[in-house]
Amino acid sequence: MTTDVTPIGMPAVHEERVPRRAGRSYFIRTFGCQMNEHDSERIAGLLEADGMVPTGDVRRADVVIVNTCTIRENADQRLYGYLGSLKAEKQRNPGLRIVVGGCAAQKDKDAVRERAGWVDVVFGTHNTHRVVDLLDRVDEWGPVTEIWEESGNPDDAPSMLPSRRESDHSAWVTITTGCNNSCTFCIVPIVRGPEISRRPGDVISEIRRLADDGVVEVTLLGQNVNSYGRDLDLNGRQPLFADLLRRAGEIEGIGRIRYTSPHPKDIKEDVALAMAETAAVAAQLHLPLQSGSDRILAAMHRGYTGTRFLEKLAMARDIVPDLSVSTDIIVGFPGETEADFERTLEVVREARFDSAYMFQFSPRPGTPAAEMGDAVPADAIQERFDRLVTLQNAITHERNRERVGRIETVLVEGPSKRNPLVATTRTEGNRIVHVDGVFEPGRFFDVRITRAAPHYLEGVQV
Ligand code: SF4
Repeated sequence: MTTDVTPIGMPAVHEERVPRRAGRSYFIRTFGCQMNEHDSERIAGLLEADGMVPTGDVRRADVVIVNTCTIRENADQRLYGYLGSLKAEKQRNPGLRIVVGGCAAQKDKDAVRERAGWVDVVFGTHNTHRVVDLLDRVDEWGPVTEIWEESGNPDDAPSMLPSRRESDHSAWVTITTGCNNSCTFCIVPIVRGPEISRRPGDVISEIRRLADDGVVEVTLLGQNVNSYGRDLDLNGRQPLFADLLRRAGEIEGIGRIRYTSPHPKDIKEDVALAMAETAAVAAQLHLPLQSGSDRILAAMHRGYTGTRFLEKLAMARDIVPDLSVSTDIIVGFPGETEADFERTLEVVREARFDSAYMFQFSPRPGTPAAEMGDAVPADAIQERFDRLVTLQNAITHERNRERVGRIETVLVEGPSKRNPLVATTRTEGNRIVHVDGVFEPGRFFDVRITRAAPHYLEGVQV
């Protein structure tokens, strides 16, 4: 039997310790996805609990953390390029500690050691909570590598660790780690392990604590949020993601809830209904298409067809009023023909996504797709990619123009990077709106949209 809430004192993931690095500074470089960004916040929280202070200048740091990604080939190139630049820092300051964690460390610990011998600590995705202990071990014993397999224990979820958030008003909350799917292009199941759900009581308690701390927006994170809870047993009942959304929506102070990502094969009406019926849950959905071709989707092991994807999308749009939808698309998967790609364009035209993250296929060693052969020539991938980007950009601009004249509730992120007298805000549908004026970050207010640019909107406060 599993209890819903972790008893106080149970998650002994970090024991009481006397801070040992008071006043020393740390610098974190994060590669990759939101999951990594969130892990970096946890690492920062642990280092600060040990007395350390952040610095934005790597040359002033006593500890540099590199939180790595291995989702694409160029992620590796960027990682080793960056580690190369740290070699000079280490020569200049031999006391510097260089720590490499995250997915690339989990998957390629030996490669990190071989290619960057100046690294002090290599730790895996299941060892995040051990970062301070590992630094202690380096001080005493020299370089250390620690990679664990998934423990299967929800108490090891990174969200149970202290955190230093990048934003005062907005936070990520991990609801699951790992993934039980087997998309052939994806390294996540290999580096993050099987899916583990956190107990709903733990997730809700964390959101309540965040709300008490002034957070008004949370994003629930999981590789496949729709399968949330399938591995839990709460007195004979499995918690559902839709229930979690509804419970999170009742928490006072949380004005906006987002989540990422659902899997198109698993999203069902109950989640769409929870979105529609829970005021705080944003009418925004990130639904990764990957390809429109049934043949390529089958080769990717995605578990749906182009038509089925469009049906799921129509279901969500029918239930959730004014739903904004983004997606991911991979161009040039092995064996993709011109006809396959044309089908992707067709689905994109029909889906009319509000925005899309578009990628050129790059084989990840260790994934089935890397062994498939039948590679699409690079120039064909580039040419298809350019056509897709042109099409999607036109649709995004069109969708943005449809917002002009409408009243939208926006959340202030902060001053615009280009002009401090203009605020950067975000709509429920996740569009950026620039608004003249100085507004407190974390504040909600209504704007009328006055202009649509290809990738942002402008508006005035009403
Ligand atoms: S659902 Fe597929 S793409 Fe997403 S993390 Fe799991 S294996 Fe990777």
